[in-house]
Amino acid sequence: MLSRKIKAALEGSSAIRAMFVEGKELAAKVGAENVFDFSLGNPATPAPEKVNQVIKDLLDGTDPLTLHGYMSNSGYEDVREAIADNLNGRFGTNFTWKNIVMTVGAAGGLNIVFKAVLDPGDEVIVFAPFFGEYRSYAANFDASVVAVKPDYETFQPDMEAFEAAFTEKTKAVLINTPNNPTGVIYSDETMRKLAGILEKKEKEYKKEIYLISDEPYRELVYDGAEENFITKYYKDTIVGYSFSKSLSLPGERIGYIAVPDEASGSQELLAGIEVANRTLGFVNAPSLMQKAVAGCIGEKTNLEFYDKNRKDLYEGLKKLGFTCIKPQGAFYLWVKSPVEDEAEFVAAAKKYNLILVKGSAFGCGGYVRLAYCIPNEKILRSLNAFAKLAEEYGLTQG
Ligand code: PLP
Repeated sequence: MLSRKIKAALEGSSAIRAMFVEGKELAAKVGAENVFDFSLGNPATPAPEKVNQVIKDLLDGTDPLTLHGYMSNSGYEDVREAIADNLNGRFGTNFTWKNIVMTVGAAGGLNIVFKAVLDPGDEVIVFAPFFGEYRSYAANFDASVVAVKPDYETFQPDMEAFEAAFTEKTKAVLINTPNNPTGVIYSDETMRKLAGILEKKEKEYKKEIYLISDEPYRELVYDGAEENFITKYYKDTIVGYSFSKSLSLPGERIGYIAVPDEASGSQELLAGIEVANRTLGFVNAPSLMQKAVAGCIGEKTNLEFYDKNRKDLYEGLKKLGFTCIKPQGAFYLWVKSPVEDEAEFVAAAKKYNLILVKGSAFGCGGYVRLAYCIPNEKILRSLNAFAKLAEEYGLTQG
């Protein structure tokens, strides 16, 4: 009854969602307050107050036929202009509204870019560990991802492996920094090397190879790290952004794609992305949310909330003897499993009501991911449960 593609998708169904469901089941048994659910990247700090105010003002003060109507498939021109101006002011770019396409979150944005550039059999290079849904997005267009291993010390991409991953079929390279699941920010050196290799490969294969930068965590950076903007490294860059995390609006499905004029075939690319938005059935990004984000353009999420969680969890787990990568951005902690098979470790953690996600869901076994976008008191209480887990594995107490 089901299509072959969706059957395959069901079989490989998201490990993150699966753990989220397990967390819910456990909560029904032992009480939600006793479950430490680190599975889902669902922000636990609300949208800035201004978001609701702007939405109320829009509802009260705008002609409903305009506010709830169709518009261009790429979105409202004034909204796109507001986003372009904001990016230009912050990053020295020269976007106009024509360079911006409003999307149904980052997921919608990546799918329309893939639809616009990928043919069946094409390959997209990604860097392990990576957001597992990239596989499904590529499969939607009968393309596939080719994963490049990390440098296991720093979790920056391994450049030799990157260079070796290109084939005739490589159409795009997809990066995500600050990274889900490691929290690592790709360094300036990494970005320069990556761009250098891409330029070389464009010449070698005599075609454009796009760098797609998936940036839902762009503003979630700690310890004074600078927000980066990737178009400055490589001209054939397509930026995908989402307000899901930066304004705590994941259920509202709003984001954008930015294509700079310098990118090869930028006009054609923008036209293709716009058509893809329509033909994939998104039609346009939600109208009210487009207007809402434009009205909240300078607003920021509660970064201190995540930073406190980050410090408490990272320091707490290190003290217990766990090996963790220090997150520089986003809201995830990447922890080495004390045993090779991290599925066993995830199962052991569940005994203490700790819900973690297997690294293999991100193309990188032997590790687990903890989403620390949960209330701080839960982080603090979870450390007792982690202490029992550490004891079970005989980790040294520091
Ligand atoms: N890309 C990455 C790296 C993510 O972590 C997520 C969500 O967690 C997405 C894309 C999808 O984001 P959105 O909710 O904007 O579709």
